[in-house]
Amino acid sequence: MNGKIGGIDLAERRIQSDDKHIQNLAAIVGGEHSILYHKEDLIAYDCDGFTLHKHLPKAVVFPKNTEEVAKLVKYCSDNQLPFLARGAGTGLSGGAIPINGEVIISLVRMKRLLNVDLENRRAVVEPGYVNLKLTNSISDKGYYYAPDPSSQYCCTIGGNVAENAGGAHCLKYGVTTNHILGLEVVLPNGEIIEIGKNGILDTPGYDLLGLLTGSEGTLGIVTKIIVRILKKPEAKQTILAYFDKVSDGSQAVSDIISAGIVPAALEMMDKIAIEGVEAAAFPVGHPKDIEAMLLIEVDGISAGINDQINQILDLCKKRNVREVKVAQNEQESNRWWANRKTGFGAMGAISPDYLVQDGVIPRSKLPEVLDRIQKVSEEYGLRIANIFHAGDGNLHPLVLFDARIPGESEKALKAGSACLKVCADAGGTITGEHGVGIEKKEEMRFVFTDEEIMAQTNIREVFNPNNLLNAGKLFPTPARCVEIKKERKVSHERRKVGTT
Ligand SMILES: Cc1cc2nc3c(=O)[nH]c(=O)nc-3n(C[C@H](O)[C@H](O)[C@H](O)COP(=O)(O)OP(=O)(O)OC[C@H]3O[C@@H](n4cnc5c(N)ncnc54)[C@H](O)[C@@H]3O)c2cc1C
Repeated sequence: MNGKIGGIDLAERRIQSDDKHIQNLAAIVGGEHSILYHKEDLIAYDCDGFTLHKHLPKAVVFPKNTEEVAKLVKYCSDNQLPFLARGAGTGLSGGAIPINGEVIISLVRMKRLLNVDLENRRAVVEPGYVNLKLTNSISDKGYYYAPDPSSQYCCTIGGNVAENAGGAHCLKYGVTTNHILGLEVVLPNGEIIEIGKNGILDTPGYDLLGLLTGSEGTLGIVTKIIVRILKKPEAKQTILAYFDKVSDGSQAVSDIISAGIVPAALEMMDKIAIEGVEAAAFPVGHPKDIEAMLLIEVDGISAGINDQINQILDLCKKRNVREVKVAQNEQESNRWWANRKTGFGAMGAISPDYLVQDGVIPRSKLPEVLDRIQKVSEEYGLRIANIFHAGDGNLHPLVLFDARIPGESEKALKAGSACLKVCADAGGTITGEHGVGIEKKEEMRFVFTDEEIMAQTNIREVFNPNNLLNAGKLFPTPARCVEIKKERKVSHERRKVGTT
């Protein structure tokens, strides 16, 4: 391409680096339009949705197909260059942050829908294909793709596989791993493998599909994905319920599930979260003085829907609901969902910065856990809003802070960690869907022993022995890990010479 854009002469943007790695990487992907290496371009890639840590990559490359990915990976591996994969960069735990100055392999140019097979209810996509596009492409035929992270309008299915993404409708339909039938993966040495061949259910051997899904880009780079697609439910209805007490709202959640109803979605927002969504782009007129709001969706065959709705309305009334209403039409339901799904970003309307946390707790502990999160908020002097997938106990405490105030970012990180400790102590865990990344590495210790962490890092070593792919993510280095390895080596040596 020649000429000028915004006063910049494009000819000047030809590879202008003496760095032989930049030149060689550029040669693999076909030249200057497929690589970024100038500092001003790299700044856009110094973090993902977790903005509290920043680091410049060495370069960002944009392969167009699996072969180019494999060549890039092999080049990095042969030349000891750290590298990582990146989708849309919406990850909230820092998984795509190049903390070791990695070469970022961006998958955004591999964004095709390769095949739709309605008969076998599956589709094949490239990793950079945006989640919501799949449903939009098959919706007119009566099908959809179930995993629906709130970021689905921009996040990629490759990123969803890496993070095992969830979403509002995962209560009834399961998270990403339940919808992945096959993967093509470039291993950290550049070899290409297929797992879950042809998307056939239950292949023999180890469950590598399960292992790769949710491995946060530490075992390989996903280059093709076979996903399950579902027939759209015959009918669905959305209900909104307002409560004066959080305890009543959370008790209603338990009552609904105990009654044997499995809503497609069961979401909750607290008072501060409501203040945020009502101040942002999609207000719907929630009362500002309520303590808790439930957004409930039921779906299924038309004949049973009204029974489910009536049961839910009764259960909410038994828990002193102030107001409960059923959406009058699809537009109203869509407005309620837009209000909820833009909930994280809405915090920007009431706070200069916010940190999203992601813990899981047993549903029955909801009131107790929310009380303890309130205490964390008081202890750190920071407001904490709560938006969560209440049906499956997946909390998102949003710590509001102002990074311009010295020390406040650090305080927010500590408050976020304290929220995760509350979840772990309540018998839950430290992430439901956003992954561990760099953000929650240390918090892994809240739920795993050194030995349990090591059992997992041993797996990473098998796939990624040189630790060049996304190093320093997902696991802390257990203090005892190095010692245990040394002990094992010594006893192994002793056995070899018969001196046990
Ligand atoms: C407003 C907002 C709302 C969100 N809501 C939800 C939600 O409801 N549920 C939820 O689960 N998440 C949610 N997220 C988090 C995020 O969108 C998901 O984690 C998503 O799956 C990340 O996809 P991505 O394409 O942006 O991946 P990236 O952020 O680019 O990467 C995430 C991780 O995946 C790895 N990776 C990316 N592509 C590949 C690949 N092809 N092969 C191997 N590894 C790869 C990266 O190395 C990194 O470790 C939200 C984020 C935002 C900003």
